[in-house]
Amino acid sequence: MIIAVDGPAASGKGTIARALARHYDLPHLDTGLLYRAVAANVLREGLNPAVEADAVASCSFDDALLDDPGLRTDEVGKIASVVSAHPLVRAALLNRQKKFAHQPGGAILDGRDIGTVIAPDADVKLFVKATPMIRAQRRHIELRKQGANISLDKVLADIRARDERDSKRSEAPMLQAPDAALLDTSFLSIDAALQRAIALVEAKKRAAG
Ligand code: C5P
Repeated sequence: MIIAVDGPAASGKGTIARALARHYDLPHLDTGLLYRAVAANVLREGLNPAVEADAVASCSFDDALLDDPGLRTDEVGKIASVVSAHPLVRAALLNRQKKFAHQPGGAILDGRDIGTVIAPDADVKLFVKATPMIRAQRRHIELRKQGANISLDKVLADIRARDERDSKRSEAPMLQAPDAALLDTSFLSIDAALQRAIALVEAKKRAAG
């Protein structure tokens, strides 16, 4: 079974995908980490993320880099959304993701274009969303816990800018696939969101016979 989980930053898609992977005992790939790895390479080499050739030159990396906690910062996330708009960067990361999705036994991937580009044939597609303000509040709490001194307004502006870049780019924009089930986590606890996600997967399995 292939499960595609897409949605914007801080929607809860990563938490849901990880929990579904445990529940169904499936291998999981957080595809945002691939774009974050490219961004981290660009930053380390002092290259320009807006220049496609610079970003493409940063696309080969070892899987070990994906475990680096340094990839999870907001700065790297912001640069990731710049490099991810380049068609040649997306092309360079495409096969790796398609191969992961189509491994024997299935897989679960989360990102922005899993249900539309990486695995349009996925058995189950979820599009996870929440209002920009609620996502900003979640991210703000996380950042404050990490000791960052940043205002909620700034976090909200960053989230809106990232949404805009991710959904307006010409190549593989963030999009709900027509056959994806919508899961709005705005007013759901993590546990309630997870129960809802499992119910949607089970409904899809039943419908498929
Ligand atoms: O999900 P995460 O915040 O880690 O993703 C970082 C950035 O990587 C996103 O803002 C988006 O621009 C890009 N991304 C993408 N396609 C994916 C996953 C992430 O373009 N499948």
